[in-house]
Amino acid sequence: MLDLILMHAPSIYDFRKRNRFYGPVSDVIPSTPIFEMYPIGFVSILNELIPRGYRVKIENLAVEMLMDEKFDVEKRIEKLESEIVAIDLHWLPHVHGALNIARMVKKYHPNTAVLFGGISSSYYHNEILKDYDFVDFVLIGDTTEPFFPLLIDAYENKSDLSKVPNLVWRENSRIRINKIEPPEKYIDSVHLNYKYLIKQCVRNLNVKSAIPYSDWIISPSGMTFIQKGCHHNCVICGGSKFAYENSYFRKMVSYRSVDNVIQDLISIQENLGAPAFIIGDVHEAGKKYEEELLKKIKQNGIDIPIMFEIFNPAPESYYVNIERNVSEYTFEISPESSNEMVRAGGGRFYNNSALEKTIEHAKNHGARKMDVFFSIGLSKQTRDDIYNDIKYMDRMYDKYGNWIHLFTSPIAPFVDPGSLAFEQNEKFGYRIFARSLKEHYELLEKSKTWTDSLNYETIWLSRQDIGSLSLEAGYLIAKMKAEKGLTKNEINIDLIEQFLNNVSHDGANPLPRNYIGPIIYDKDELVWSKKIKIKNLNCFMVNFYRELLKMKEKAFK
Ligand code: SF4
Repeated sequence: MLDLILMHAPSIYDFRKRNRFYGPVSDVIPSTPIFEMYPIGFVSILNELIPRGYRVKIENLAVEMLMDEKFDVEKRIEKLESEIVAIDLHWLPHVHGALNIARMVKKYHPNTAVLFGGISSSYYHNEILKDYDFVDFVLIGDTTEPFFPLLIDAYENKSDLSKVPNLVWRENSRIRINKIEPPEKYIDSVHLNYKYLIKQCVRNLNVKSAIPYSDWIISPSGMTFIQKGCHHNCVICGGSKFAYENSYFRKMVSYRSVDNVIQDLISIQENLGAPAFIIGDVHEAGKKYEEELLKKIKQNGIDIPIMFEIFNPAPESYYVNIERNVSEYTFEISPESSNEMVRAGGGRFYNNSALEKTIEHAKNHGARKMDVFFSIGLSKQTRDDIYNDIKYMDRMYDKYGNWIHLFTSPIAPFVDPGSLAFEQNEKFGYRIFARSLKEHYELLEKSKTWTDSLNYETIWLSRQDIGSLSLEAGYLIAKMKAEKGLTKNEINIDLIEQFLNNVSHDGANPLPRNYIGPIIYDKDELVWSKKIKIKNLNCFMVNFYRELLKMKEKAFK
């Protein structure tokens, strides 16, 4: 009997049986539209529990369902034995899968406690406990790792649940919310040592159920973060200052100690030998933090490729500093629109000249590449703005060629509850089609196309406009790149043409039914780890990748 299973559900539970048009909703992230990637919190929970002797396991049901069409979810769930099953409802697009899987766990294991956690669970904790009796607990807030041992002990020993901070639970059908601890206090109790991910694979003799996303086998990467909370208020973001303050009990941004971040990077190097993505803007953390982190990367011999996020254009000195200390690195930035007024309306206050300068600095100081993200579905954004974005990209490609990677994608399927676009929709020109958890569930349950599942439209672009423009923009970009000789093949153009040739009059999206691969972008562009040599050839995970590759080939035969 395990103490805890961390379970990840697909976005739509029965996606394998449905006849549905999936769209480019996940083209700019590593996972498929099933959103099989589990939150990084799974790894930090393992870090909290395994060293203390708890028996824990990750069950990524979404990956198993994707990789093996014969995989029987009910049978797997029936066989499980755990005191508590924790299901992440972090990103709201998982609402359909998470609720169906939770119901199934309770059906086969009425004595097992079902726990929900993650940002969306926090937002909807009341509705979850009021309307879904198969969910017993919700842990709320953005930092709950330290409360897992307390919850497991209290549940297993049948002791007082009211002492578990941040727990929402039922007592004689009354919903109780325990004391909420300030998350700022716990920033340095979160660790991402990947050895515990490997440990749980070995102990449970299963790797497939623990991998973060299906493509991870061939393009692995690790993650760390420097901060929780954000200084900015991007209108569509559920991780903004506004969202954290009003929905997730966080009053200020917290930065992790540099030593903790370094320990994570060392663990990625030693255990995965793969590139690392640092979440959060290192430059915004301040000069002292930036200097110390970069210096310690060098001092500790960390030479895996590192991807840095840029929230706001940084001065040249930042890039000089990175060049001096990091052996291989890339950057990503999300200006959202080339129209400065639209960008500012969305909460990002820098002009194109600042954007272009920061890109130039990155190029001049040795970045391997730069990813630049534009979006469709922004406040004040019109059809013309999207065509102008493509013209802007044209100029960027002429200047930087294959070094730069430019993406545009729809905000999909949902604008985040808690974000300004959701909470103050009229002010920012959004029409919101779903408010409650149940309404979001119904959107995924009933929609036949991805455009119908959007929980919003703007007063400038309808849902159908967002759908058709996303694919048209993708088509124009793919063609442009082909004409400039920037792409190796034209697979994407053929695929998008299939859509364009079939587009219906209302703009709904008739892509090949049930196709769940990337449409607009080749994932190679995004997941550069495919091109990176894994550094540590003796590492345990490398050998596991190889075994997994064989498994994957077998699964698709
Ligand atoms: S999108 Fe904006 S608000 Fe959200 S985390 Fe990034 S910088 Fe912060």
